[in-house]
Amino acid sequence: MSADTAKIMDGKAISQEIQTELASETAQFTQETGVTPCLAAVLVGADEASEVYVRNKQRACERVGLSSQLHKLPADTSQKTLLDLITELNNDPLVHGILVQLPLPAGLDSTQILDSINPEKDVDAFHPENVGLISQGRPRFLPCTPHGVQQLLDRCGIELSGKHVVIVGRSEIVGKPMAMLLLNRDSTRGPQAANATVTICHSRTTDLAAITQTADVLIAAIGKANFITADMVKPGAAVVDVGINRTAEGLVGDVDFDDVSTVAQHITPVPGGVGPLTVTMLMHNTLIAARIQTSNAAVE
Ligand code: NAP
Repeated sequence: MSADTAKIMDGKAISQEIQTELASETAQFTQETGVTPCLAAVLVGADEASEVYVRNKQRACERVGLSSQLHKLPADTSQKTLLDLITELNNDPLVHGILVQLPLPAGLDSTQILDSINPEKDVDAFHPENVGLISQGRPRFLPCTPHGVQQLLDRCGIELSGKHVVIVGRSEIVGKPMAMLLLNRDSTRGPQAANATVTICHSRTTDLAAITQTADVLIAAIGKANFITADMVKPGAAVVDVGINRTAEGLVGDVDFDDVSTVAQHITPVPGGVGPLTVTMLMHNTLIAARIQTSNAAVE
């Protein structure tokens, strides 16, 4: 994969850089408190992609110095059995973060399952309490993929304050929380990585290209292979491709990389762009969860 003109934003390298920082913060935390932050992953059924994602998350835990647990349940697990497991993990003082790998098999109510996670262990930041805190600009945990995108842009030297960011996609996991993060007054990287003017587009948006062409930073989270083409991009824009689409040609993003590379100034590849950062920001949240729970325990 080569860009004709655009500079590649290397998510893999930046992810490694952040993991190195996290490893030293974790080592210091463990030395000071005697606590090893622990992420419990819950995997229901045998979806191949989900198994790969969970394995990657466990490997990242090892690299950063976190411990991890894997709770593997059969596809025919009942809602009650899964809820009982979440209650057990909520009550386990050795577990700091709980991750339920999505999608859950049909028949399970994922909203009820995710809502049952203790908000202080909700390292995916899906619980309504955590979503509310984000929208009020006082986050406890930051949603992993949007936070990864924010880290990536800032570490590539792309200032967001005052810039027009167009996000294509309004999902609860990517599009909406992405908009909240960039709209807030401050960020984990400082105010320059927030304070954007944000437009969110979706499938009912009229004349999508006319809007995306005005973006200084264009973020695609659509789930449609090669959807964003050069004619939709403002020359000199930074283009972030969140999409992961499995095609006969392998994994491709939502952005037509070769085409858009001819007009954009910065672009993320797929794979090796946003994906590795999502995993790394989950590690970041697990360390934060351990900090919160350890200081709560000290006060009690
Ligand atoms: P999603 O829930 O399916 O949302 C897709 C969004 O795209 C929806 O808001 C939809 O609009 C919009 N959309 C669909 N067709 C469109 C069109 N023709 N024009 C404009 N907007 C359109 O997907 P998601 O969970 O946000 O994920 C998006 C992609 O990112 C997927 O490929 C997913 O695999 C990937 N992803 C990657 C990571 C990572 O770590 N890199 C993490 C999460 C997701 P409506 O709301 O109107 O339907």
